[in-house]
Amino acid sequence: MKKILILHTGGTISMQTDQHGSIETSAVNPLVRQTPQLTDQVSIMQEEVFNLPSPHMTPETMLTLAQRIQAVAANYDGIVVTHGTDTLEETAYFLDLTLQVNCPVVVTGAMRSSDQTSADGPANIKAATMVAASDKSVNQGVLVVLNDQIFAARFVTKTHTTNLATFQAPLTGPLGAIADEQVTFFAQVPQQTSVQIDHVTDKLYLFKAFAGMNADLLNLVEQAGSNGIVIEGFGAGNLPPTLIPAIKRLIAKNVPVVLVSRTFNGSVAPIYAYEGGAKQLQELGVILSHNLTGQKAMIRLQVGLSAGLNGSRLTEYLKNEDN
Ligand code: ASP
Repeated sequence: MKKILILHTGGTISMQTDQHGSIETSAVNPLVRQTPQLTDQVSIMQEEVFNLPSPHMTPETMLTLAQRIQAVAANYDGIVVTHGTDTLEETAYFLDLTLQVNCPVVVTGAMRSSDQTSADGPANIKAATMVAASDKSVNQGVLVVLNDQIFAARFVTKTHTTNLATFQAPLTGPLGAIADEQVTFFAQVPQQTSVQIDHVTDKLYLFKAFAGMNADLLNLVEQAGSNGIVIEGFGAGNLPPTLIPAIKRLIAKNVPVVLVSRTFNGSVAPIYAYEGGAKQLQELGVILSHNLTGQKAMIRLQVGLSAGLNGSRLTEYLKNEDN
């Protein structure tokens, strides 16, 4: 019989409606009181790590969760993590980059609280548990399962504020699906080497470019001191020229400056040589990070710095070319 551990961290999946009709964290997570009904092929243990709305998750809580999984994974055939959907993709990617475990790790959540009509939590937990218990899920990296679809943590993102089909992987599509009580994979992602960390670096910042953006915020960050920044540029990674002097100064101070695109789909590329174009930025020492959203690049920067990478090793890590 397969042994699956479900680790609860909070989120809407664990919440309930209060007397005003708002969704609130429950004093006791209702999921802990009910064991999902699966076949007699699976034995389920549950544990509450946190009971947090996912906007309250931090790199520190992600590390605590990763350490808990690392400590117990050898005793189980699969781990399911329940999590709020707002930052689910960040925690899933953090786990993907840092865990060194042999069993599948599957993150799930819900768009509707446990007491709302057609709550999706129970079905998502059941599907995630089936995926965690499947031999097909071994060596697939950390997986995200919602709405009967299986995604790679590194490619999945929340695409709709309220719809049940919110989790999508615009670049790759899903890796698989759960249908008719069967887990099916129709794609695989290349495995990445995970790195071990025991603390998290602070003072990292994420910026999003907009037409007419000035350098005021970058200048403030430069004055305050930073260990690294990520900028979501336009299109294939281009920025307003007004930012260039501040970027040059940050790079001169050895602050890693990572460029991704604010565009929903596709990667940055050194195509344009004009002032602020990604080709010029690359020549200045900006790191072009492939196929990552701003929030995922932040996690990768966080993990890379926390693992002690610097110089060319940090640059290679952040380029994310082996995905
Ligand atoms: N705001 C909620 C959270 O992330 C959303 C959800 O769980 O679906 O905690």
